[in-house]
Amino acid sequence: MSISKSNEEKMQHLIKQMGRCYLCPFAFHRSNIVPYSGSIDAKVTLVGEGPGKEEDDSGEAFIGPAGRDMTGVMTSYGIKRKDLFICNLLKCRPVLPYALKNNQTPGLAEVQNCFPYLWEQIRIVQPRLVVLVGATAAKWVLNVGSVTMGESAGKKDKLEAFGKNAVDWDCDYTIMWHPAAALHNPNNKKVVNKSMRDTFHRAKSYMKG
Ligand code: SF4
Repeated sequence: MSISKSNEEKMQHLIKQMGRCYLCPFAFHRSNIVPYSGSIDAKVTLVGEGPGKEEDDSGEAFIGPAGRDMTGVMTSYGIKRKDLFICNLLKCRPVLPYALKNNQTPGLAEVQNCFPYLWEQIRIVQPRLVVLVGATAAKWVLNVGSVTMGESAGKKDKLEAFGKNAVDWDCDYTIMWHPAAALHNPNNKKVVNKSMRDTFHRAKSYMKG
């Protein structure tokens, strides 16, 4: 229990740091930082791209339309949000009011700024499975130029963004289609749903014991 308390303290310290962070211009337009949702004791961590409007409004990760779709699928496998550690590459909504209405894809500078927070979170949680939600998260966390969504699983050695490997315990990763891909293009719905079902079916096996 003392280990868990210590991890809670580490996470709270990290969250305070995020709240004082103004490394990216997004920070000046955020309503809230969005550190994570769920549990720091989770065996499975989900990493998405960045918070959307509803997440920015609430400080909770993956509660917008895409998050609700994803939650529906995980629930059908008996997985609750509190069973997972759910976070994003970026802790602030990647949008600038004068530039774009919708979230922008984070660039190198913003991802590089925010990566230490993600890496520290992963080190605190020490998940057995990291689910990279969407191509952007996968590309940055795996340190590759592009991602083929079909090639979707591997071992900890590839979790090495910016030349640093955060993971020195037994851990696998998998890549899942981002649920927003089905909202942006209904033609993606079938493949996105299958990807989510496969991922949460797999996640169940990491959550035992
Ligand atoms: S996105 Fe991350 S690095 Fe950028 S200001 Fe927010 S907390 Fe800081």
